[in-house]
Amino acid sequence: MSDSNDTTNLLNIIVDRAHVGIFVVNQQREIVLWNQFMEIHSERKADTVVGQNLFEAFPELPRKWLDRKIENIFILKNFSFTSWEQRPYLFKFAHNRPVTGGVDCMRQDCTLMPIKDDNSEVQYVCFTLFDATDTSIYQSKLEKTTEKLRELSNRDGLTRLFNRRYVEEALEKEFNRARRYNNKLSVILTDIDFFKKVNDMYGHLAGDEVLRIMSQRLASGLRGTDVLGRYGGEEFLVVLPETDMQGAHVLAERLRKIVQAEPVAVEGESLTINISLGISELRDNTAAYAQLIAEADLALYQSKKNGRNNTTLFQPDF
Ligand code: GH3
Ligand code: MG
Ligand code: MG
Repeated sequence: MSDSNDTTNLLNIIVDRAHVGIFVVNQQREIVLWNQFMEIHSERKADTVVGQNLFEAFPELPRKWLDRKIENIFILKNFSFTSWEQRPYLFKFAHNRPVTGGVDCMRQDCTLMPIKDDNSEVQYVCFTLFDATDTSIYQSKLEKTTEKLRELSNRDGLTRLFNRRYVEEALEKEFNRARRYNNKLSVILTDIDFFKKVNDMYGHLAGDEVLRIMSQRLASGLRGTDVLGRYGGEEFLVVLPETDMQGAHVLAERLRKIVQAEPVAVEGESLTINISLGISELRDNTAAYAQLIAEADLALYQSKKNGRNNTTLFQPDF
């Protein structure tokens, strides 16, 4: 056997055994080569597909798109690529990873390579198909973890409400939006009445439980666009976009009643919990979002002074 025959045999073996899908089509889109990887994953032997039109043998292929891609290679004589991130797969092949990876079938990176004759005319297009399933599984795990971390970083650990940083950022955004579009905006600041007593009488863990229950009650009384966060120990801030003081007042009273409506069971006893609330709204001369919180805090202080378990609207002459 000559050297060149040896080399051809060697190349055939390598093409066949490579852990990559390799197949070749001619200008009529007839399959002229189909390696072992393609045989195994398509469950079609080379001798049943070679000589057949690619799209007739595999009608499930995205014909219009792929045919144009192949045609462009014959015309432009350039390589072409597709990544699993743009098009998850060319052939719908099973993969052998656990289903828990969340990827339904093999992800594929594909290369389309022009094979030219001596006159530099493209005779064939050679496809290589790389299994990118592992990369895609890792990437989707990473995205899920990042999403979870982002979510956690916005939440308060005890109550699961938004934390102070998040609710302040939300207020800042709403403040800027309201200024730009001349919208209304108001905030409610609320604080549990005599909460120290709960801790003193029943212990800190019981106090924690009351905080969790109160948080759920507050959340249940709000609308989808309202943003509720734990502002401090037993203080909560509610941002109310497109809402004026009158609207906020109605909502605040609703919250106050929801909280006290049902006693909370603590250490075998029934406790009625009350809250005091302060409200402020955006005015022409409100300098910054922090001023809204400061004014709601002044109003809240008035509610405490007036005997607690009530709501006060901020007045500029406070
Ligand atoms: P007031 O009606 O004036 O608000 O009286 P108060 O007793 O509620 O007084 P204040 O708001 O100043 O006290 C808040 C208390 O809340 C003090 C603190 O021990 C308690 N507290 C703050 N954060 C937590 C927490 O995460 N868990 C528990 N159990 N208690 C907390
Ligand atoms: Mg309090
Ligand atoms: Mg307090």
